[in-house]
Amino acid sequence: NRRAIVAANWKMNGNSALVDTMVSGLHNISLSDNVDVVICPSFVYLSELAHKLKENSLENTIALGAQNVSDKASGAFTGEVSTDMLQECSVKFVIVGHSERRELYKETSTQVAHKVATVLNAGLTPILCIGESESERATEQTEVVLSSQLQPVIDEIGIEKFKDVVIAYEPVWAIGTGKTASKEMAQETHQFIRQFLAQCDAEIANKVPLLYGGSVNASNCEALFAQADIDGGLIGGASLKVDEFSVICSAA
Ligand code: 13P
Repeated sequence: NRRAIVAANWKMNGNSALVDTMVSGLHNISLSDNVDVVICPSFVYLSELAHKLKENSLENTIALGAQNVSDKASGAFTGEVSTDMLQECSVKFVIVGHSERRELYKETSTQVAHKVATVLNAGLTPILCIGESESERATEQTEVVLSSQLQPVIDEIGIEKFKDVVIAYEPVWAIGTGKTASKEMAQETHQFIRQFLAQCDAEIANKVPLLYGGSVNASNCEALFAQADIDGGLIGGASLKVDEFSVICSAA
């Protein structure tokens, strides 16, 4: 009874032509009733995508997401984008704490927690990304790492607010590498995440959509989405190809 979500993270890829291709290609997409599809292009294309979805009467079928946001409301923060600005672009979801932001731009779990709070305060839905690196998995640190990424967010917003949070588990070693976690390994880790939240509140934990991300494609999506604690996916590379992304959306 949890909603399923398939979210496209275009990362720093795509252009106006891809916006067009995606909107026309997803025109006749067939989705189960409980599935939300979200597309997260670069900030630059949000307005254009919003406009084209509306033009094609897809605004209630496909939601818009951003890949990042500032935790500040406004002011002298060159290069940053606020939740108010995202709202003006019809954005509903915001990816927060993607491993690329954590690794390459040194976002800490404390900053990520502030961003989650900011997104929630604006009435938007955060897609909170967590995940361990290859060496952390190899040294059996996965659960410690995931806990250390989740706890600051729980401390900042409180467990009750998790009813409005989406979590994406993305093992860093599976991102863009073609090395997907096996469905068993993904399920086991998702179960751990749900149990970790359940220590605070079992009812809330049961409601949080947990998405898997990391080399999801048209061939492996069905098996992953069939797992008890996997409620959809956060899709990188495969979300740039309209036919493949359609297959993934229909599998959820
Ligand atoms: P890939 O699907 O390209 O592995 O990327 C996953 C990801 O990081 C989505 O946020």
